[in-house]
Amino acid sequence: MKKHSHRWETSSLCGDTAGFSCRCGARENRKMTKSEHRQAKAYLADTWKHASKVNSLYHAVRSLLSSEDGNWKLKGYAAICKMDKFVKKHPAILEFGVDDSCATSSSVYIIPHCMAGDFSSVSLLYIPQCSGEDPIFLHMYPENISDVIKVLQSAKRAGQAVKHLPDAGISFPKFGFKPKG
Ligand SMILES: [Zn+2]
Repeated sequence: MKKHSHRWETSSLCGDTAGFSCRCGARENRKMTKSEHRQAKAYLADTWKHASKVNSLYHAVRSLLSSEDGNWKLKGYAAICKMDKFVKKHPAILEFGVDDSCATSSSVYIIPHCMAGDFSSVSLLYIPQCSGEDPIFLHMYPENISDVIKVLQSAKRAGQAVKHLPDAGISFPKFGFKPKG
């Protein structure tokens, strides 16, 4: 795109920081002034009230796992169990598995957003099972989704290209640990 003077629009409000974006893809963010922060808080409180109408699945998941102040009330295994029940009732949410930083099976949920009846974006919710971190949302627009597909495909090709490397010969020892009960 040709050089132009950006036309900034507010695109995110998070904590005391406001994010701005231009149609050309440029993004900026800065700390809000006290008065902007007040306006943002009032707007977000109002949005929360109307949350069931816009981005309904995303907000349903947020209120399932976190309290209104935004803190997580469930995480780890408890949050995964809660989400798995929720997903059965809401098949629009997709799921895939990853390992957390303790190498335990964890989940990523893909929550679609619809604005005024149109698909707009997805939120990925990553819930580590055992590593103790909070769950985290990654918000992705269609161009981010295309990028991650491309990048993962080339990562897989790169991985396949080194499969002739010698195996380290390490296998997991048999401890004989048993689950309780
Ligand atoms: Zn611009």
